[in-house]
Amino acid sequence: MKELSRVYSAVAPSATLAVDAKFKQMKADGIPVVGFGAGEPDFDTPDHIKEAAIQAIRNGETKYTPAAGTVAVRKAVAYRIKEDFGVEFDTGSIIVSSGAKACLFAAFAAVLNPGDEVLVPAPYWVSYTEQIKMLGGVPVPVFAGEDRSFKVSAAQIEAAVTGKTKAIILNNPSNPTGMIYSREELSAIADVCVRHDLYIIADEIYYRLCYDGAEFTSVITLGEDVLKHTILINGVSKSYAMTGWRCGYAACGDKKVARTMANVLSHSIGGIGTMNQAAMTAALRGPQDSVEAMRKVFEERRNYMVSRMNAMDGVSCLMPNGAFYVMMNISRLIGRTLGGRVINSADDFAMAFLESGLVAVVSCDSFGISNFIRWTYASSMESIKEGMDRLEKFLQS
Ligand code: PMP
Repeated sequence: MKELSRVYSAVAPSATLAVDAKFKQMKADGIPVVGFGAGEPDFDTPDHIKEAAIQAIRNGETKYTPAAGTVAVRKAVAYRIKEDFGVEFDTGSIIVSSGAKACLFAAFAAVLNPGDEVLVPAPYWVSYTEQIKMLGGVPVPVFAGEDRSFKVSAAQIEAAVTGKTKAIILNNPSNPTGMIYSREELSAIADVCVRHDLYIIADEIYYRLCYDGAEFTSVITLGEDVLKHTILINGVSKSYAMTGWRCGYAACGDKKVARTMANVLSHSIGGIGTMNQAAMTAALRGPQDSVEAMRKVFEERRNYMVSRMNAMDGVSCLMPNGAFYVMMNISRLIGRTLGGRVINSADDFAMAFLESGLVAVVSCDSFGISNFIRWTYASSMESIKEGMDRLEKFLQS
């Protein structure tokens, strides 16, 4: 057989999905495992959103749509952004595709030439680096550890810029760290980006999930110059419990970028399912109270998980103030034997914990940081309690 694509053969499988696949296999085999792998709300999609999709099917909305989405869904995106941030986009600047993931892919495809560097604050969501590599770019991690609350500074970004830097990816609130950048921190970073004429790819998919009254600042509110450089990425998966609907959107400060992204989509994915676009329209335009109800539940779960974890010997975590993840520091466990396995890394811990502790968590080894485990509190309170009980037991094994 002839050689496969060198670019795509080098792509690593998504670590989060790998853990989840193993967890699901164990579950299917009747093993009583508990999962904290995939970042997926356990809530059901609100009824009015489901109804909109059913209605669209009944109305015969079952044909091709423009690759960037129907006018109705793009108007709904513009409406939501205007409501939440007071910034106006016209439909020609908006792209709707198959999840924020596909929008990110189209954004990288639109801006990258071979060898272009993209700054990626680390720890990062693993798909950024892999997508950049798939599209011929070079991911350049910029690291901020626990001692800096996992947040990079403007000075670090400035120092990482080279003649080849094309863009930065700014994920706020962050997966996996759950941290939120303040307006001042974000503004200082954005200024550096504008000065170096970088595209700012702002993944704000967790913007509705902020806790302790933390104020969220969108990059698009930082002034005209910043807006012009920004490709805002967002979606409905996390805020409206719609992970399986595969609906995301991008809003571009520069219309040329939006047009290029639409061209990428027109020759690859095409427009997404008409009924999904109707559901997304209903989510963005309809009542928003379910978003707040879910946010409150997440906050309670976070408080419980963090206090249990910090009461245990050997592990600790910072209090995250957004998204639905907790970064558990396991550096004190390195070299110890747990569940019959010597723990030399977070990967070892995740494997031992799944096999002996029957809990699926995600090692952050492929997220650009060592000795951390990511937990999600998107699962039910009952599972979280069970997960914490099992962690306690496992740490004594
Ligand atoms: N960005 C981040 C930071 C995420 O965590 C995720 C989902 N894990 C996505 C984008 C993709 O979301 P979607 O379901 O809209 O593709």
